Amino acid sequence: MADKKNLRTPIVCVMGHVDHGKTTLLDKIRGTAIVSGEAGAITQHIGATEVPIDVIIDKLGDPRLRDRFIVPGLLFIDTPGHHAFTTLRSRGGALSDLAIVVVDINEGFKPQTYESLQILKRFKTPFVVVANKIDRISGWVSQKDLPFAATFKKQSEDVQARLETKLYEVIGELYNQGFAAERYDRVTNFQKTLGVVPVSAVTGEGIPDVLMVLLGLAQKFLEVNLQYSAEGPGVGTVLEVKEEKGLGATLDIILYDGTLKKGDTVVIGSLGEPIQTKVRALLKPRELSEIRYESKFKQVNKVTAAVGVKISAPGLEGALAGSPIRVATEETLDEIVAQVKSEIDEVRIDTGSVGIMIKADTLGSLEALVHEFQKDEVPIRKAEVGDISHRDAIEASTVEDPLYSVIIGFNVKVHPDARDFLQESTVKVFTSDVIYRLVEDYQKYVKEQQE
Ligand code: GDP
Ligand code: MG
Repeated sequence: MADKKNLRTPIVCVMGHVDHGKTTLLDKIRGTAIVSGEAGAITQHIGATEVPIDVIIDKLGDPRLRDRFIVPGLLFIDTPGHHAFTTLRSRGGALSDLAIVVVDINEGFKPQTYESLQILKRFKTPFVVVANKIDRISGWVSQKDLPFAATFKKQSEDVQARLETKLYEVIGELYNQGFAAERYDRVTNFQKTLGVVPVSAVTGEGIPDVLMVLLGLAQKFLEVNLQYSAEGPGVGTVLEVKEEKGLGATLDIILYDGTLKKGDTVVIGSLGEPIQTKVRALLKPRELSEIRYESKFKQVNKVTAAVGVKISAPGLEGALAGSPIRVATEETLDEIVAQVKSEIDEVRIDTGSVGIMIKADTLGSLEALVHEFQKDEVPIRKAEVGDISHRDAIEASTVEDPLYSVIIGFNVKVHPDARDFLQESTVKVFTSDVIYRLVEDYQKYVKEQQE
């Protein structure tokens, strides 16, 4: 067994279709941990919530489990929507160690459910499926916060049958997507079979089971990935670039390796040359008990992975969401700048030859889009992070081939002057916040053009 000291907290992303219950589930996990009585046990990070192993074990109600798990806890990413997963990237890989895919058991699969599964498959990220909103199954009698088996036993036979029917529809859909899946308590080998946990994020039924499965996955799959050196230079990913009153542009980052200190020189990816700056302040959210302070944040001098933290520093305006942030010393600075630059360049495409134009909100979503279109052998002339600008519109309009006089926009805005221009032009624009829908729409367009 690995040395406990050197295992960092696994990073968990919640994915799934809008309104299927991602935020509610996270709130419940957070709330559960708070009411479990260990004051201060749960740590609120910037963009993330850490639930320590002791709180989880407490929740599971079997102290004998304590020795079975070696991870120090779970770090849940709070960023709304499932885009956190693609934002949390590192060099073509996913930074999220584990994921939860939430699906409304009554609604079944929706576009973003499919998209989540495709992304997870591509990155080979271990995950659990949460079949949410079981309290809405007709006749369900809620049993607040009980594990699934206990609440299931208390339901009438009719209700149990209804749940099973809906559950196996979800399992059938997973099968169609290439995943062998089962109700999680019927899974004998989680390496081969995906566990599906019936849950109500509102009543808390089944939540202990979700935590249990996540710990199990962390244990089975991640021991090696989670080895880290606490003393090493900090490495992280930018979750968001955020304007804060009195601070200007700040970065919300997830540090996944090493240590970051106030005063450190950091290198951050941007559209141009990497940003080099000195950390002015490291900020964490205040505890609820500290609301008498005016600022939402408190300063810390040092953080160690895995942690979510806000960075205040000069010159952060051009930083890119999804790009790396690395601590450098005088000796390593040149090397680190080159490294960050090449990490960004790997994703961007700016060849000036034939192909479509892709604009996306983060480096990670851009990477996913480029991957999908390249898989379809669609040539790409330009791919970059940012809204659709007037210049983009003009550039696309100079392309003669209608198949390539195209702008694909993922989760980006069209600037008003670009919009005016585009309305008058023959440029075809596709925008969506679902990656595979953009790919499908483009394919359909190509077919139409060829007819
Ligand atoms: P998100 O878009 O995936 O983050 O979904 P939300 O967490 O915002 O949930 C969307 C709506 O579904 C909200 O009105 C929630 O209260 C509701 N909801 C979420 N989970 C459950 C659940 O388990 N049971 C019921 N009845 N409603 C839920
Ligand atoms: Mg939400």
